[in-house]
Amino acid sequence: MVEGREADRRTGSLLWTHFGISGPVVMDASRFWTLATNRGAQADLYGNFVPGRTPDELRAWLTVQATKHPKRSLARTLALLVPERFAHSLCLYCSCDPLTTIAQVPRIDRNRLFDGLTRFRFPVEQDRGWNFAEVTAGGVPLDEIDYRTMESKVAPGLYLTGEMLDCDGRIGGFNFQWAWTTGWLAGQSAAQSLRAGDIASRTP
Ligand SMILES: Cc1cc2nc3c(=O)[nH]c(=O)nc-3n(C[C@H](O)[C@H](O)[C@H](O)COP(=O)(O)OP(=O)(O)OC[C@H]3O[C@@H](n4cnc5c(N)ncnc54)[C@H](O)[C@@H]3O)c2cc1C
Repeated sequence: MVEGREADRRTGSLLWTHFGISGPVVMDASRFWTLATNRGAQADLYGNFVPGRTPDELRAWLTVQATKHPKRSLARTLALLVPERFAHSLCLYCSCDPLTTIAQVPRIDRNRLFDGLTRFRFPVEQDRGWNFAEVTAGGVPLDEIDYRTMESKVAPGLYLTGEMLDCDGRIGGFNFQWAWTTGWLAGQSAAQSLRAGDIASRTP
């Protein structure tokens, strides 16, 4: 959310690390967080650890679990949905005792857990900065480029490629593809313009 509006929504793999969260979905989402934060806008990141299930479905599921396995602990029950260590930590984060038997969890605690599972607000402090970035946003505007040749319309004879241009993609090879494609095109075009220049200079 940027300034209270949804800026991006995506599903993918998330890693818990010693420094915070990472993984493809986090790196992709970080684009929106860093761009917004850099311009001074308020950016908030929420996670749903059980995508595809609504809070109502989860509530119904937990009721079934409480009936079928009333003596199973809260953390072990949640571990049917998410990794057990995370289930344990989430209980503590939501001020619930992970060892309480599922049948004894008060409704108010359950609601906090539902929120934690489906709309967890990540308390993001900062991105990891340039040294850990995989791609840069921003660069030379694309409307200053001739797409057929990658030549600059502003400075003819200058060919631009890859991350020099204002184009960045999500994780998944798109940035390599962009770099290689524009690089090949720019190289071919630059060589061709030199050959054309050679021919022109040799023409009496
Ligand atoms: C850790 C990491 C992992 C990544 N993984 C992926 C991935 O899995 N999939 C994907 O699609 N993208 C990935 N990327 C992004 C991708 O590598 C880049 O988007 C792509 O390489 C950009 O290509 P480029 O040619 O624009 O720039 P670069 O690959 O950065 O090439 C620029 C070159 O210019 C040279 N250079 C800089 N200044 C000068 C100078 N003054 N004179 C001469 N040479 C200079 C640099 O040494 C460098 O060799 C990853 C990036 C990083 C950092």
